[in-house]
Amino acid sequence: MCRAARMAGSRMKLELSRVVQGRGRLGVLKELGKTGQCSLEVPGCLLHTHLGTVPHLTQETLRTLSNLPSVTQVTLSNIAEHQEVLEEFKDGVTKFAGLHDTVLYCSLHDPATPCPTGYTTNKTVSVWGSGGRIELTVAKFMALQKTVQPDWYQSMADGETWLNNTSRKRVRKSVDRTLAHLDECLLVHQQSQELEGVEVFGVVEGGDILEERVRSSRETAKRPVAGFCLDGLQTGSMDQALRTQLITAVTKELPEDKPRLLQGVGRPDEVLACVEAGVDLFESFFPFQVTERGCALSFSFDISLDPELAVLELDEERGTSGETQQNGDLNPDDQSLMTSFEINLKDQRYKDDFRPLVEGCVCYCCQNHQRAYLHHLLVTNELLAGVLLMIHNTAHYHAFFSALREALANDKLDVLKTRVLGESGGRQKDLTDTDKSE
Ligand SMILES: [Zn+2]
Repeated sequence: MCRAARMAGSRMKLELSRVVQGRGRLGVLKELGKTGQCSLEVPGCLLHTHLGTVPHLTQETLRTLSNLPSVTQVTLSNIAEHQEVLEEFKDGVTKFAGLHDTVLYCSLHDPATPCPTGYTTNKTVSVWGSGGRIELTVAKFMALQKTVQPDWYQSMADGETWLNNTSRKRVRKSVDRTLAHLDECLLVHQQSQELEGVEVFGVVEGGDILEERVRSSRETAKRPVAGFCLDGLQTGSMDQALRTQLITAVTKELPEDKPRLLQGVGRPDEVLACVEAGVDLFESFFPFQVTERGCALSFSFDISLDPELAVLELDEERGTSGETQQNGDLNPDDQSLMTSFEINLKDQRYKDDFRPLVEGCVCYCCQNHQRAYLHHLLVTNELLAGVLLMIHNTAHYHAFFSALREALANDKLDVLKTRVLGESGGRQKDLTDTDKSE
């Protein structure tokens, strides 16, 4: 094989089985990883980890869960400060973290912890680890990729355009810088033996300015990248109507046969809307955030139920979970971030609730424990609370993605939306209101 054919973007294949304009893309991302043996169904998500570990869970516990993605996401915010150790170790993060049979994807920032802004320059971006800020040049960024040895990674990008009132000039600068970083990364990549067979995702920036989004997409698509990261559209940066409009414009410019990964969006209602706008991949940090505030995902996505019955059941559930949002024993920060897709188990109402977290859920937590026990673990600060919640939340979230693919395959997206959002999107409206008060 000649070097050119081994360049970034040469192997990963997206086979779409179904594309309905404005309703999403269904398919399989094939020939992933250095051996080309792995695949990932889309719409889908990556496994969110801190340096290879799903927070709270051991590898053994993790393996008890079904529907887990074949791609593990690690981030340079967790890795950059360990560069020397990894260089000494020599065998990459997959081995360092004791992972097997997984495809490793390395992104820049951890989507679960938004980083401070104001630290990018023409030549550098910053990531924030536990020891503080680390400034990356393209040279340092690429040196890190060589020690991480991922199967695919996100190119360096200046994504500081998601704050309100970012000027047009600043947005244009972020697009220019990100393209320059990409060209530099590709240059180093193509000359590096260590990175042969590794794929690069280009990053689409452009803030909330449509023309800049289009320009960023067009220019990035001209480069030899395997796929695209859509950055600066994360939850809290804009409302869903604007996000949908921007993503629709972006995906129009991108080649059909390459995957689009949306960064920083994980809420089920937003996931559904973004899939309809043409997004293929998400980061699964949402279940972790829900776990950290002592909550359990409890939304329904069963599309096999009779639609009328489903709405009745939903109303019943809402009747109880609606109040929870005001009465919870959460700290004010967590309370404002809580969504209506979850229940707050610290709440007194669960003290003697002997039902599983979600009726019918087959995860270890729901099979063995009740809400009352989880309530006890949370109020007494037992570490097991995080473990059990993470098991359930991870299982529930990935099962939602399975249901989403099933719905797309069987023309049941509307049924799924009714199930997840409630009839007439009532829940979605509540969420938008919550957003504004943040
Ligand atoms: Zn469960």
